[in-house]
Amino acid sequence: MVSDSALDDAREVLRTTFGHADFRGLQAGVISEAMAGRSALAVLPTGGGKSLCYQIPAILRPGLGLVVSPLIALMAGQVAGLQQQGVAAARLDSNTQPDERVEIWRRIGEGTLDILYMSPEGLMQSGLLDRLERHPLSLIAIDEAHCVSQWGHDFRPEYRALGRLAEIFPGVPRLAVTATADARTRDDIRAQLRLADAREFVDSFARPELQLSAERKAGGAHARVEALVKARAGRSGVIYCGSRKDTEELAARLTAAGTPAIAYHAGLDKRLRDERLRYFLNEDAAVVVATIAFGMGIDKPDVRYVIHADPPASIEAYWQEVGRAGRDGQPAEGITLYGASDIAWALRRINEREVGPEVKLAQVRKARQLYAMLDGLGCRAAAVRRYFGEGEAQPCGQCDVCVNPPESRDATRPAQMVLSAVHRLGGRFGRGRVVDHLLGKTKDVHPNEAALSTFGVGGDLSVAEWRTLVDQLLFDGLLVEDPNDGRPLVGLGDAEAVRAVYRGERRVEVRVHDRAASRAERRAKSSPVIDQSPETQALFTALKAWRREAALAQGVPPYVVFHDKTLLEIAQARPGSLGRLGDVGGVGQAKLDRYGAAVLEVVRRV
Ligand code: ADP
Ligand code: ZN
Repeated sequence: MVSDSALDDAREVLRTTFGHADFRGLQAGVISEAMAGRSALAVLPTGGGKSLCYQIPAILRPGLGLVVSPLIALMAGQVAGLQQQGVAAARLDSNTQPDERVEIWRRIGEGTLDILYMSPEGLMQSGLLDRLERHPLSLIAIDEAHCVSQWGHDFRPEYRALGRLAEIFPGVPRLAVTATADARTRDDIRAQLRLADAREFVDSFARPELQLSAERKAGGAHARVEALVKARAGRSGVIYCGSRKDTEELAARLTAAGTPAIAYHAGLDKRLRDERLRYFLNEDAAVVVATIAFGMGIDKPDVRYVIHADPPASIEAYWQEVGRAGRDGQPAEGITLYGASDIAWALRRINEREVGPEVKLAQVRKARQLYAMLDGLGCRAAAVRRYFGEGEAQPCGQCDVCVNPPESRDATRPAQMVLSAVHRLGGRFGRGRVVDHLLGKTKDVHPNEAALSTFGVGGDLSVAEWRTLVDQLLFDGLLVEDPNDGRPLVGLGDAEAVRAVYRGERRVEVRVHDRAASRAERRAKSSPVIDQSPETQALFTALKAWRREAALAQGVPPYVVFHDKTLLEIAQARPGSLGRLGDVGGVGQAKLDRYGAAVLEVVRRV
């Protein structure tokens, strides 16, 4: 048992250094373990406050706290934020200059550095480990710990080496933290990182500030994204695309349509990438169009929407990517566009991967679960939470499905016709041809095809209805699409399931269509614009302008100075003294000393 006083000390640091009134969620539990010198595995949702779980014990316990983190951009943001809060933190990576290195080691020797951020490959160099062994360590935190597992979604081979830390630093508590890990990934994290006895903390995956929605791509997906972005003018957003070329095209399109947007992908040279990342972090309503190369660990707190112009790879990836919106706890949106050809493409990519059959099978299952959620008829947030093992997740009441339940109707009979037509056509045609066949409209039809019993049986439904049904069958896995180099062919899917439909043992439901498309729009109108009195709004705007100057002068992103949420709280409370200002969430002692007078001045003036 950890003494209550250790937790009291931790709470005191939470208050004075970080400016928060009390722990939330499972923070206190995780921190207690670390304070008592025990290892732990913590799975907390994005924005759940994972970093404090290791930062506070690192500050309080004697010795240096090591934090392993996968991305330099992530470390840079965290370290800048900590330094602003008066915490002795630094990072050691390939960008660290020799004189800074000397200074870091001097402080480690002196025992005055509390937290050091490093990459996994940086840490595991033998010279460095030897050097660290000579100094007392307070703890080792492994951030984004799901990267160690190939069952997770961001496998990084260099994370594997971290298992050795258990032997090298036997007495040092290790904290593995992540926002996304299903049960299997969690087991793998324990095994790989040798955390067999560590206590596990798994918080609810609920993100009540996120409004989720998904819609099938209709023709012109980029036009759709343009409309969605336009409806969200003045807000910061991230748009994910499947290809580099698409990021460039879409960014240009949005810019031409009046929303300045930057493209970001791994093919850009490093200088340009850094520049664009800085722009995104520093600008108020910045919009970035990116591949998934962008974002791991980006914690710009005021991202108001994430749009997937192409669907993510799995529910884990979805949750992590969508989770980049609303980190400040204010309302935000996650909108996903997806299509039947996306699942075909995803499955093909998995098949081409050079991994064992078991891993492939797991990945195929993950892809199917993703599309079942996107195209399903149930609450999206609840589907995600169930996926992560939360048995009794209730409907969220605010996703598109909850707000506007899609109507569905039985389509078992026409589904039988489609399956039977595909069977008779031998899987040699694309879906357009299958629909033409059902309608008896195939151009220059071969007499053999015209003689098939399925030819022309589908006059009861329109072309659009048949297409929707074919899509539905693809999502259900009753049909599969062979991409065939861009000229996809439709074949029969899981034989057992297809037989069940033929025999009428399995029903097929289709959505009654075209309501989905208007849903996101309606929501955009009613959605998270901060509703404030004109006086509060004016002060909020003035505080933001002040923050911009303060950030610029120090070369840090604005949110490192104060989060929007904090500024909004100040604008509402209009504190007249340092004491009152200190009561606002997010205002710790260091920030009060540094900015207090200037903020009070803005409040007085406006
Ligand atoms: P993540 O779990 O995504 O890494 P962070 O550690 O970045 O989350 O924290 C997300 C936000 O929540 C930060 O702005 C942080 O200051 C804030 N936060 C963390 N813990 C608390 C708390 N106990 N009370 C209020 N805000 C908190
Ligand atoms: Zn819902």
